[in-house]
Amino acid sequence: MTAPTYDPENIFAKILRGEIPSEKLYEDEHSYAFMDIMPMGRGHCLVIPKTPSRNILDIDAESLAHLMTTVQKLARAAKKAFGADGVLIQSYNEPASGQTVFHTHVHIIPRFEGVPLKPHSGKPEDMDVVKANAEKIRAALA
Ligand code: 5GP
Repeated sequence: MTAPTYDPENIFAKILRGEIPSEKLYEDEHSYAFMDIMPMGRGHCLVIPKTPSRNILDIDAESLAHLMTTVQKLARAAKKAFGADGVLIQSYNEPASGQTVFHTHVHIIPRFEGVPLKPHSGKPEDMDVVKANAEKIRAALA
């Protein structure tokens, strides 16, 4: 069986190229962070590498190291922004695991004692709520 290949027309590649909008939180030479529009919890955000890869299985080690450095930065900011009790860091790899967008990404989800997660890729959030949460994370990053 041939290995699945990277499709540059995926949604996150289009976000990186500015072809579709996103609620940006952070950007550097190697990575980009933005809000998830169907959040599993308050402040759910995503970090993606600027280099093309499908997921953790095919990303090169250097891009992964840069990605995880940004994940830590965003995880700390998201926890602080909402006074969360913890932060879930999650990655789905290939369809059997639940991956739906095939550009490497890491989910960052603030967690609160006693508050369950909503379904993965569930319901679109009100964009005013997404923007207000983004503002809190950007402030915590500053
Ligand atoms: P996956 O299932 O591949 O791990 O996660 C894809 C994530 O991207 C899901 O959490 C989903 O809510 C989110 N998502 C899907 N389409 C869009 C979009 O157009 N913009 C943003 N910001 N997030 C998206």
